Order: sequence, then C-alpha cells, then structure tokens
Amino acid sequence: MRYLESIMEQVVRRNPNEPEFHQAVKEVLESLEPVARMNPQWLQAGIFDRLVEPERQIIFRVPWVDDNGKVQVNRGFRVQFNSAIGPYKGGLRFHPSVNLGIIKFLGFEQIFKNSLTGLPMGGGKGGSDFDPKGKSDGEIMRFCQSFMFELARHIGENTDVPAGDIGVGSREIGYMYGMYRKIRNEFTGVLTGKGLDWGGSLVRTEATGYGLCYFMDEAMTAIKGRSFKGSTVVISGSGNVAIYAAQKASELGGKVVALSDSNGYIHDPDGINLDTVKRIKEIERKRIMEYIAYHPNATYTEGCMGIWNIKCEIALPCATQNELDENAAKTLVANGCFAVGEGANMPSTPEAVELFLKEGVVFGPAKAANAGGVATSGLEMSQNSIRYSWSFEEVNAKLRSIMIGIYRNASEAAKEYGMENNLVAGANIAGFMKVANAMYAQGITY
Ligand code: NDP
Repeated sequence: MRYLESIMEQVVRRNPNEPEFHQAVKEVLESLEPVARMNPQWLQAGIFDRLVEPERQIIFRVPWVDDNGKVQVNRGFRVQFNSAIGPYKGGLRFHPSVNLGIIKFLGFEQIFKNSLTGLPMGGGKGGSDFDPKGKSDGEIMRFCQSFMFELARHIGENTDVPAGDIGVGSREIGYMYGMYRKIRNEFTGVLTGKGLDWGGSLVRTEATGYGLCYFMDEAMTAIKGRSFKGSTVVISGSGNVAIYAAQKASELGGKVVALSDSNGYIHDPDGINLDTVKRIKEIERKRIMEYIAYHPNATYTEGCMGIWNIKCEIALPCATQNELDENAAKTLVANGCFAVGEGANMPSTPEAVELFLKEGVVFGPAKAANAGGVATSGLEMSQNSIRYSWSFEEVNAKLRSIMIGIYRNASEAAKEYGMENNLVAGANIAGFMKVANAMYAQGITY
C-alpha cells in the first residue's frame, strides 16, 4: 500500500543510520496492510504516522568514577514510545552496542508486546552503552546511581516503569531503586524486577523463559500436535531468559543440549545440567565455557553463531537481535527443526523469518513469545498498587494463562486476515488493534 510505503520512507529519512529500528517498523507495517485497508478512518486520523514517531526521546550524560578514580562518561537513553493504553513500560539495557536506534527498535516492539498481554501498559525502552562486564560491584553501583540520578525525573509509577534487560538484572535494579527512593523520598513500584523483600513479584525472574515455553507448547500442540515432550532443544544465550527457558523446556519434557554466550557455545549431548549453569552465570558471573570443566562429555566451540548447526527439533534464540540468519535457518530446517520460539527481541533476521514461515515451521515471534517478562512486570505493578503479594502458584498460573491467551489472540487475528498460522502477522495485528483503537478514541493529542 502506497500510504504505508511512504510512512516507511519517512521513517528511514528521519532516522538515518538506525537499521534495527527500520527493520522492526518495516515488519510491522507490512503485516498491517490488510488492517489499514479495512480501517480508512485510521489513515485519516494519522494513526500510522503517529505510531512510528516516539512520544518522547531522552538522551543524557552518565558520568561516574571508576575504581582508579578516573571519571568515565557513558550515554543514557529512555525512549517513551507510546502511552495510549498505559504508562510507558519496557526494560533498560546496559551493553556497549546500545545506541538510539537499538533502543527505538526495542521501544517500538514493546508497544505491541505490552498490548498483547492484555494489561494496561504503554511501550518504552531505555539503557546505556555502559559495559557491565569486568566491572567491580562498586563501579556497577556508582554507574547505576548516576544513571538513575537523571532518569528519576522522567519516570514514575503512573508515568513510566522501567525493568531489566540485557546487562540489567536484580543487582542493577536494586542499585537504581535505592537511588530513586532516596531522590523522591517515596516507596513506589517505579521499577519492576525488584527483590522479593522490597516489592518484587514471585516468578518475575523466571517469567520470560517460562512464558516462552508456555507459548510455544500451546502453539506446537495446536499447529503440529507436537510439544516439548521428547524433543531436543537448542537455546542460545545463557542469561536470564535462556536459563529459565531451559528450565521450563526440561520440565515440559524437552532435552536441552546447548547454550551459548557472545564468545561461544557448549554442547552437552547428555542434556545441560542447569545447576552448573546457574552457579557459573548467576553466582560466579563467569563465561559459559567453564561448564566443560564439570561435564566431561560436553564440548565448547568458539563463536556463538555455530550453535544453530547442532541438530534439534526446537530452537529458542534467547541472546540478542539478528543472531539467527538465513543460513542458520536453512541448517535448522534441514536438520528437522519444527519449531522456533524467539526469547530474545528480534533474534531472527527477516530472511530467516521468511524461510521459517515458508517451510511451515511453528514460529513464535518475540513480541508474542517473550511477552511473559513484561506481563509478570505488569502483575508486579498490580501487586505494588494494592501493596500485597501473590503466591508463586498464583503468579505462575496468571502468566501461563496470559501466554496461552496471547497465542490464541495472535492465531485468531492471523486467521481472520487470511494468514492462518502466521503468528508474525497475527501478533502484529492483535497488538496493534488495541493501541490504534485507544489512539483513535483519544483524538490527536498535541
Ligand atoms: P542477559 O544479560 O541476562 O543475558 C544475555 C545473554 O545473551 C548472555 O548470555 C549474553 O552473552 C548473550 N548476548 C548478549 N549480547 C550478545 C551478542 N551481541 N552476541 C551473542 N550473545 C549475546 O539478558 P536477558 O536474558 O535478559 O536478555 C536476552 C534477550 O531477551 C534480549 O534480546 C532481551 O531484550 C530479551 N528479553 C529479555 C526479557 C527479560 O525479562 N529479561 C524480556 C523480554 C525479552 P554475554 O554474557 O557474552 O554477553
């Protein structure tokens, strides 16, 4: 449709050198074409034009002092993309690759993901080009405090509620929350992923990985009559999402044989021992290659992309964007992989996604499949508002039912628009409808 093409051209012109942002917008606009045709009133109201432009983009200096007394300066970001259905909500990423384009792609995706959960959350994302690797605990704390010193003026429990992402786990959330509380002199649910003793929710740590498996189990059963039971599973990454995806995949009867980090991957044909992985990654904060010292049958290979050469039936990319390309997709399909669930955000390149859809692979796109993290963050916000905590079983049951609901909504939307089992289109359409309706109802807000 010419109208949507012109919006895409404008996005590229207005946001040069932001390829990840262009990639994310292109995928969404392409699948919204049938929706745009059926709703001319939305074109009239400029819904699409407004959707691709963040409501607010904040860039700030983050100065901090390292252990040698040297002043370091990083760049901080918060992109408040869309608040039509609730306060901005989305994680903070600390990684040297972070730039405005990456935060914008993540914030844009977050709009639809949050909408899919059915909870009242708008879309946002933030972070910094700070590299936590190799930093002392004191350096991490000073950086987090400086970052929050500026961010605090832009967020609030009813305005914008950040969470963790790559490089931001419970330790970083703790340091940032402490600083926010001191600056504002108030104890509110302004961040999610908090510790259990100070407002955190049970299951939040496990939520993205668990949710991914709940979503994929439902999709695989509905589309192929298959499941994790008896399947070999390869998972990239060895961070928060990967570890808890591995745990739930095993609980559901799968055999997880590989994990990775940005240096390389481990392959354990006996099945990955998660106690070892948790000790190495969560307690010792070491590299995944340490695993082979404890498990003699396991091997380590340098280079993280090679992980997709391992034969598997289910692949769960849980590390980072564009980590699974067309060649990797071809190898997976040739090796008999029948399902791919995206735990990371946009881990598959557009060419890989196209191949999976063409080959009839059950493909769970990130904004649907990994929505469990933000859904549980939404549940943490609810618990903070009523100053009460639900049990593990209660939160886990709510998470599971949200993930099954997301699959069904995406699947129905895909069917309604003539693209049965295309969950990419289905998730984009189902997520978009609610936001578009809200934007339309609220008028052109100046
Ligand atoms: P973590 O920081 O806990 O772990 C990230 C993992 O991915 C690490 O193993 C890391 O290896 C690897 N990784 C990071 N960057 C690269 C890279 N450039 N190349 C190869 N491997 C890399 O992050 P999370 O597990 O929280 O996040 C993983 C993905 O899931 C991200 O895409 C994130 O946006 C997405 N996500 C996370 C949610 C959450 O609740 N945490 C919610 C929804 C999505 P290394 O240690 O070597 O850097």
